[in-house]
Amino acid sequence: MKEKVTVASDWLAGCAGCHMSLLDIDDRLVQLLDLVELRATPITDLKQPDQQGVDIGILEGAVANSSTEEVARRMRSRCKTLIALGDCAVFGGVPAMRNAVTAAVALRRAYIETESTVDGMVPQHEDLAVMQEVRPLDRLVPVDIYLPGCPPSADAIFYVLSELAAGRQPTLRGRYLDWH
Ligand code: SF4
Repeated sequence: MKEKVTVASDWLAGCAGCHMSLLDIDDRLVQLLDLVELRATPITDLKQPDQQGVDIGILEGAVANSSTEEVARRMRSRCKTLIALGDCAVFGGVPAMRNAVTAAVALRRAYIETESTVDGMVPQHEDLAVMQEVRPLDRLVPVDIYLPGCPPSADAIFYVLSELAAGRQPTLRGRYLDWH
């Protein structure tokens, strides 16, 4: 019996919508699970990154702070093929709109100048992630496959994963990029 392809996924700065699109694969997930073994993902209880490494790593969202930078570097170091899932990972997407202002201005607007501000202070703690310029994934680590869309369609995600699981290189050009 052919060995299953191992997969791990995680999210950076985004909205989790790309992972929801992954779940929209619906009953084809069963078909996929014959070929693929899911080792870690934030949408199940399997959250621990695999120390042994996986064949395919999937990252949703942009790199936006020290915490997401750490997650991205760790995934890259533990997978053979890295997929940038969704517009935020591919080119920065919606989170990159924050780059119009500096981190200091964004924090001031969020915590001091908004009506919902409770105590008028920017939270500070050594455990809090340090805000950075929002970047697409490949500005930090090499990416092997770009799967754009906001979110990418379930069909596109299924196509890419099933091609990789079959040992083929997916070619997305001209197909499945329906941008919904
Ligand atoms: Fe959310 Fe769209 Fe970004 Fe995916 S690409 S994380 S759906 S905003």
